[in-house]
Amino acid sequence: MRILLASPRGFCAGVNMAIDCLDECVKRFGPNIYVYHEIVHNRYVVDRFTRIGVKFVDHPDDVPVGSILLYSAHGVSPEIRKAARERKLQTIDATCPLVTKVHLEAIKYARDGYNIILIGHEGHDEVIGTMGEAPESITLVETPEDVDQLPFGPDAKLAYLTQTTLSVEEAATVIRRLEERYPGIEHPAKEDICYATTNRQDAIKALIGQVDLLLVLGSQNSSNSRRLQEIGVTTGKAAYLIDGKAELRPEWFEGVNSVLVTAGASAPEVVVEEVLEHLRQTYGATVEDAITREEHVTFPLPKELRVLQAAGA
Ligand code: SF4
Repeated sequence: MRILLASPRGFCAGVNMAIDCLDECVKRFGPNIYVYHEIVHNRYVVDRFTRIGVKFVDHPDDVPVGSILLYSAHGVSPEIRKAARERKLQTIDATCPLVTKVHLEAIKYARDGYNIILIGHEGHDEVIGTMGEAPESITLVETPEDVDQLPFGPDAKLAYLTQTTLSVEEAATVIRRLEERYPGIEHPAKEDICYATTNRQDAIKALIGQVDLLLVLGSQNSSNSRRLQEIGVTTGKAAYLIDGKAELRPEWFEGVNSVLVTAGASAPEVVVEEVLEHLRQTYGATVEDAITREEHVTFPLPKELRVLQAAGA
Protein backbone atom coordinates (compact mmCIF):
# COMPACT_ATOMS: atom_id res chain seq x y z
CA MET A 1 0.00 0.00 0.00
CA ARG A 2 1.23 3.46 -0.94
CA ILE A 3 0.36 6.36 1.33
CA LEU A 4 0.55 9.99 0.26
CA LEU A 5 0.87 12.18 3.32
CA ALA A 6 -0.59 15.58 2.45
CA SER A 7 1.20 18.75 3.50
CA PRO A 8 0.08 21.24 4.70
CA ARG A 9 -2.13 19.31 7.13
CA GLY A 10 -3.07 19.50 10.79
CA PHE A 11 -2.60 22.37 13.20
CA CYS A 12 -2.94 25.90 11.81
CA ALA A 13 -1.48 29.00 13.43
CA GLY A 14 -4.71 29.83 15.30
CA VAL A 15 -5.03 26.35 16.79
CA ASN A 16 -1.34 26.27 17.73
CA MET A 17 -1.71 29.62 19.49
CA ALA A 18 -4.89 28.58 21.36
CA ILE A 19 -3.36 25.31 22.57
CA ASP A 20 -0.05 26.98 23.55
CA CYS A 21 -2.13 29.58 25.39
CA LEU A 22 -3.99 26.95 27.42
CA ASP A 23 -0.77 25.03 28.12
CA GLU A 24 0.85 28.27 29.32
CA CYS A 25 -2.16 29.09 31.54
CA VAL A 26 -2.01 25.62 33.13
CA LYS A 27 1.72 26.09 33.76
CA ARG A 28 1.19 29.50 35.38
CA PHE A 29 -2.10 29.12 37.23
CA GLY A 30 -2.50 25.33 37.64
CA PRO A 31 -5.21 23.27 35.94
CA ASN A 32 -8.15 24.95 37.70
CA ILE A 33 -8.95 26.89 34.55
CA TYR A 34 -12.18 27.22 32.64
CA VAL A 35 -12.57 27.38 28.86
CA TYR A 36 -15.65 28.68 27.07
CA HIS A 37 -16.64 25.75 24.83
CA GLU A 38 -13.96 23.48 23.33
CA ILE A 39 -10.57 25.16 23.05
CA VAL A 40 -10.48 23.74 19.50
CA HIS A 41 -12.88 21.26 17.92
CA ASN A 42 -10.85 18.12 18.49
CA ARG A 43 -11.65 15.28 20.84
CA TYR A 44 -8.01 14.27 21.46
CA VAL A 45 -7.03 17.82 22.42
CA VAL A 46 -10.06 18.40 24.65
CA ASP A 47 -9.59 15.01 26.38
CA ARG A 48 -5.93 15.79 27.07
CA PHE A 49 -6.83 19.00 28.91
CA THR A 50 -9.87 17.48 30.63
CA ARG A 51 -7.67 14.72 32.07
CA ILE A 52 -5.46 17.26 33.83
CA GLY A 53 -8.42 19.15 35.30
CA VAL A 54 -9.25 21.94 32.83
CA LYS A 55 -13.02 22.48 32.63
CA PHE A 56 -14.93 23.30 29.46
CA VAL A 57 -18.13 25.26 30.10
CA ASP A 58 -21.14 26.43 28.08
CA HIS A 59 -21.58 29.79 29.80
CA PRO A 60 -19.65 32.17 32.08
CA ASP A 61 -22.37 31.58 34.70
CA ASP A 62 -20.97 28.02 35.05
CA VAL A 63 -17.61 29.46 36.23
CA PRO A 64 -16.94 30.33 39.91
CA VAL A 65 -16.75 34.09 40.48
CA GLY A 66 -13.21 35.45 40.07
CA SER A 67 -11.84 32.38 38.20
CA ILE A 68 -9.85 32.34 34.97
CA LEU A 69 -11.89 31.89 31.79
CA LEU A 70 -10.25 31.33 28.43
CA TYR A 71 -12.07 32.13 25.19
CA SER A 72 -11.47 29.45 22.55
CA ALA A 73 -10.01 29.87 19.05
CA HIS A 74 -13.52 30.27 17.57
CA GLY A 75 -14.23 33.59 19.29
CA VAL A 76 -17.17 34.73 21.41
CA SER A 77 -20.00 37.24 21.13
CA PRO A 78 -20.08 40.50 23.14
CA GLU A 79 -22.88 38.98 25.24
CA ILE A 80 -20.49 36.31 26.56
CA ARG A 81 -17.81 38.94 27.30
CA LYS A 82 -20.38 40.96 29.23
CA ALA A 83 -21.50 37.92 31.26
CA ALA A 84 -17.85 37.18 32.11
CA ARG A 85 -17.27 40.79 33.23
CA GLU A 86 -20.37 40.70 35.42
CA ARG A 87 -19.02 37.57 37.09
CA LYS A 88 -15.66 39.27 37.58
CA LEU A 89 -13.83 36.53 35.70
CA GLN A 90 -10.21 36.98 34.64
CA THR A 91 -10.51 36.38 30.89
CA ILE A 92 -7.81 35.42 28.42
CA ASP A 93 -8.77 35.67 24.78
CA ALA A 94 -7.37 32.91 22.55
CA THR A 95 -9.60 33.84 19.60
CA CYS A 96 -7.74 33.30 16.32
CA PRO A 97 -6.80 36.70 14.83
CA LEU A 98 -8.37 35.62 11.54
CA VAL A 99 -11.71 35.14 13.31
CA THR A 100 -11.28 38.51 15.02
CA LYS A 101 -10.80 40.00 11.54
CA VAL A 102 -14.32 38.83 10.59
CA HIS A 103 -15.76 40.23 13.84
CA LEU A 104 -14.19 43.62 13.14
CA GLU A 105 -15.56 43.61 9.59
CA ALA A 106 -19.04 42.85 10.95
CA ILE A 107 -18.78 45.72 13.43
CA LYS A 108 -17.58 48.13 10.73
CA TYR A 109 -20.25 47.23 8.16
CA ALA A 110 -23.00 47.38 10.79
CA ARG A 111 -21.78 50.78 11.99
CA ASP A 112 -21.83 52.03 8.39
CA GLY A 113 -25.46 51.00 7.98
CA TYR A 114 -25.04 47.83 5.91
CA ASN A 115 -27.16 44.72 6.15
CA ILE A 116 -24.61 41.92 6.40
CA ILE A 117 -25.06 38.53 4.78
CA LEU A 118 -22.93 36.01 6.66
CA ILE A 119 -22.17 32.82 4.71
CA GLY A 120 -21.70 30.06 7.26
CA HIS A 121 -23.06 27.07 9.12
CA GLU A 122 -25.86 27.63 11.61
CA GLY A 123 -24.92 26.75 15.18
CA HIS A 124 -21.14 26.79 14.65
CA ASP A 125 -19.33 28.56 17.51
CA GLU A 126 -17.62 30.98 15.12
CA VAL A 127 -20.90 31.93 13.44
CA ILE A 128 -22.64 32.48 16.78
CA GLY A 129 -19.75 34.72 17.91
CA THR A 130 -19.73 36.77 14.69
CA MET A 131 -23.51 37.19 14.60
CA GLY A 132 -23.41 38.36 18.20
CA GLU A 133 -21.39 41.42 17.14
CA ALA A 134 -24.35 42.91 15.27
CA PRO A 135 -27.40 40.66 15.65
CA GLU A 136 -29.84 43.15 14.12
CA SER A 137 -27.70 43.63 11.02
CA ILE A 138 -26.62 40.07 10.15
CA THR A 139 -28.53 37.43 8.19
CA LEU A 140 -27.06 33.94 7.90
CA VAL A 141 -27.12 32.02 4.61
CA GLU A 142 -25.71 28.57 3.87
CA THR A 143 -26.76 27.85 0.28
CA PRO A 144 -27.60 29.64 -2.99
CA GLU A 145 -31.26 28.79 -2.29
CA ASP A 146 -31.01 30.77 0.97
CA VAL A 147 -29.86 33.76 -1.10
CA ASP A 148 -33.05 33.52 -3.18
CA GLN A 149 -35.11 33.83 0.02
CA LEU A 150 -33.42 37.02 1.26
CA PRO A 151 -35.95 39.82 1.86
CA PHE A 152 -33.74 42.67 0.61
CA GLY A 153 -34.51 44.64 -2.55
CA PRO A 154 -31.96 45.06 -5.38
CA ASP A 155 -30.82 48.49 -4.11
CA ALA A 156 -30.33 47.51 -0.47
CA LYS A 157 -27.05 48.47 1.18
CA LEU A 158 -25.50 45.01 1.56
CA ALA A 159 -22.16 43.42 2.38
CA TYR A 160 -21.19 39.76 2.75
CA LEU A 161 -18.78 38.01 5.08
CA THR A 162 -17.91 34.33 5.37
CA GLN A 163 -17.06 31.86 8.11
CA THR A 164 -13.30 31.13 8.00
CA THR A 165 -13.57 27.37 7.50
CA LEU A 166 -15.97 26.96 4.58
CA SER A 167 -15.49 24.94 1.44
CA VAL A 168 -13.90 27.38 -1.02
CA GLU A 169 -16.08 26.01 -3.87
CA GLU A 170 -19.35 26.08 -1.94
CA ALA A 171 -18.73 29.60 -0.67
CA ALA A 172 -17.96 30.69 -4.25
CA THR A 173 -21.32 29.30 -5.39
CA VAL A 174 -23.18 31.27 -2.73
CA ILE A 175 -21.17 34.42 -3.48
CA ARG A 176 -21.94 34.09 -7.21
CA ARG A 177 -25.65 33.97 -6.45
CA LEU A 178 -25.35 36.98 -4.11
CA GLU A 179 -23.51 39.00 -6.76
CA GLU A 180 -26.06 38.05 -9.43
CA ARG A 181 -28.94 39.15 -7.23
CA TYR A 182 -27.17 42.17 -5.68
CA PRO A 183 -24.53 43.44 -8.13
CA GLY A 184 -23.52 46.27 -5.77
CA ILE A 185 -22.90 44.04 -2.74
CA GLU A 186 -19.73 44.94 -0.82
CA HIS A 187 -17.17 42.56 0.65
CA PRO A 188 -13.86 42.80 2.52
CA ALA A 189 -10.73 43.42 0.46
CA LYS A 190 -9.16 40.19 1.71
CA GLU A 191 -11.37 37.12 1.83
CA ASP A 192 -12.44 35.60 5.15
CA ILE A 193 -11.86 31.91 4.37
CA CYS A 194 -8.49 31.52 6.03
CA TYR A 195 -5.17 30.44 4.54
CA ALA A 196 -5.16 27.16 6.50
CA THR A 197 -8.61 26.13 5.27
CA THR A 198 -7.71 26.99 1.67
CA ASN A 199 -4.30 25.28 1.74
CA ARG A 200 -5.62 22.01 3.23
CA GLN A 201 -8.43 21.89 0.67
CA ASP A 202 -6.04 22.70 -2.21
CA ALA A 203 -3.70 19.89 -1.14
CA ILE A 204 -6.49 17.32 -1.36
CA LYS A 205 -7.66 18.63 -4.74
CA ALA A 206 -4.10 18.33 -6.08
CA LEU A 207 -3.46 14.83 -4.75
CA ILE A 208 -6.75 12.93 -4.66
CA GLY A 209 -6.47 11.84 -8.29
CA GLN A 210 -3.48 9.66 -7.37
CA VAL A 211 -5.22 7.55 -4.70
CA ASP A 212 -8.12 5.17 -4.06
CA LEU A 213 -9.08 6.41 -0.61
CA LEU A 214 -8.93 9.54 1.54
CA LEU A 215 -8.45 9.49 5.31
CA VAL A 216 -8.98 12.77 7.16
CA LEU A 217 -7.94 12.96 10.81
CA GLY A 218 -10.26 15.25 12.72
CA SER A 219 -13.42 15.38 14.81
CA GLN A 220 -16.96 15.31 13.44
CA ASN A 221 -17.67 18.78 14.88
CA SER A 222 -14.63 20.31 13.18
CA SER A 223 -15.94 22.38 10.29
CA ASN A 224 -12.70 22.51 8.30
CA SER A 225 -12.14 18.75 8.75
CA ARG A 226 -15.62 17.96 7.44
CA ARG A 227 -14.99 20.12 4.39
CA LEU A 228 -11.84 18.07 3.64
CA GLN A 229 -13.78 14.82 3.74
CA GLU A 230 -16.47 16.32 1.49
CA ILE A 231 -13.88 17.08 -1.20
CA GLY A 232 -13.01 13.39 -1.30
CA VAL A 233 -16.66 12.42 -1.53
CA THR A 234 -17.40 14.91 -4.33
CA THR A 235 -14.56 13.46 -6.42
CA GLY A 236 -16.20 10.04 -6.10
CA LYS A 237 -13.54 8.57 -3.81
CA ALA A 238 -14.18 6.79 -0.53
CA ALA A 239 -13.38 9.32 2.18
CA TYR A 240 -13.51 8.94 5.95
CA LEU A 241 -13.24 11.46 8.79
CA ILE A 242 -11.88 9.81 11.93
CA ASP A 243 -10.57 10.92 15.31
CA GLY A 244 -7.88 8.25 15.37
CA LYS A 245 -6.75 4.74 14.50
CA ALA A 246 -9.41 3.07 16.70
CA GLU A 247 -12.03 4.06 14.11
CA LEU A 248 -10.26 2.42 11.13
CA ARG A 249 -12.22 -0.47 9.59
CA PRO A 250 -10.46 -3.32 7.70
CA GLU A 251 -13.18 -3.39 5.02
CA TRP A 252 -12.25 0.17 3.95
CA PHE A 253 -8.92 -1.15 2.68
CA GLU A 254 -10.11 -4.13 0.63
CA GLY A 255 -8.71 -3.70 -2.90
CA VAL A 256 -7.14 -0.35 -1.95
CA ASN A 257 -3.57 0.25 -3.15
CA SER A 258 -3.14 3.92 -2.37
CA VAL A 259 -4.37 6.23 0.41
CA LEU A 260 -4.19 9.99 0.88
CA VAL A 261 -3.84 10.95 4.55
CA THR A 262 -4.45 14.45 5.82
CA ALA A 263 -5.64 16.17 9.01
CA GLY A 264 -7.96 19.06 9.76
CA ALA A 265 -6.59 22.27 11.27
CA SER A 266 -7.48 21.18 14.82
CA ALA A 267 -6.13 17.60 14.65
CA PRO A 268 -2.77 16.93 16.34
CA GLU A 269 0.06 15.19 14.50
CA VAL A 270 0.16 12.37 17.07
CA VAL A 271 -3.15 10.95 15.75
CA VAL A 272 -1.76 11.04 12.18
CA GLU A 273 1.37 9.18 13.34
CA GLU A 274 -0.72 6.49 15.05
CA VAL A 275 -2.73 5.89 11.88
CA LEU A 276 0.40 5.73 9.71
CA GLU A 277 2.02 3.24 12.09
CA HIS A 278 -1.11 1.09 12.02
CA LEU A 279 -1.16 1.09 8.20
CA ARG A 280 2.56 0.27 8.05
CA GLN A 281 2.18 -2.67 10.41
CA THR A 282 -1.10 -4.01 9.05
CA TYR A 283 -0.66 -3.47 5.30
CA GLY A 284 3.11 -2.94 4.91
CA ALA A 285 2.35 0.62 3.78
CA THR A 286 5.07 2.97 2.57
CA VAL A 287 4.63 6.68 3.26
CA GLU A 288 5.56 9.51 0.87
CA ASP A 289 5.43 13.20 1.80
CA ALA A 290 3.28 15.09 -0.71
CA ILE A 291 3.98 18.79 -0.16
CA THR A 292 1.82 21.18 -2.14
CA ARG A 293 2.71 24.36 -0.23
CA GLU A 294 4.87 25.62 2.62
CA GLU A 295 3.20 27.37 5.58
CA HIS A 296 5.07 29.76 7.85
CA VAL A 297 2.20 31.56 9.63
CA THR A 298 2.42 32.00 13.40
CA PHE A 299 0.37 34.06 15.86
CA PRO A 300 1.60 35.45 19.19
CA LEU A 301 0.04 34.45 22.51
CA PRO A 302 -2.86 36.69 23.65
CA LYS A 303 -1.74 40.03 25.06
CA GLU A 304 -3.09 39.20 28.55
CA LEU A 305 -0.49 36.41 28.77
CA ARG A 306 2.30 38.43 27.17
CA VAL A 307 1.77 41.16 29.77
CA LEU A 308 2.14 38.58 32.54
CA GLN A 309 5.22 37.12 30.89
CA ALA A 310 6.80 40.56 30.54
CA ALA A 311 6.06 41.26 34.22
CA GLY A 312 7.72 37.95 35.14
CA ALA A 313 4.53 36.82 36.83
S1 SF4 B 1 -8.70 27.38 10.79
FE1 SF4 B 1 -8.08 29.45 10.16
S2 SF4 B 1 -9.46 30.84 11.25
FE2 SF4 B 1 -9.62 28.82 12.26
S3 SF4 B 1 -8.13 28.89 13.91
FE3 SF4 B 1 -7.06 28.05 12.14
S4 SF4 B 1 -6.09 29.83 11.12
FE4 SF4 B 1 -7.65 30.59 12.53
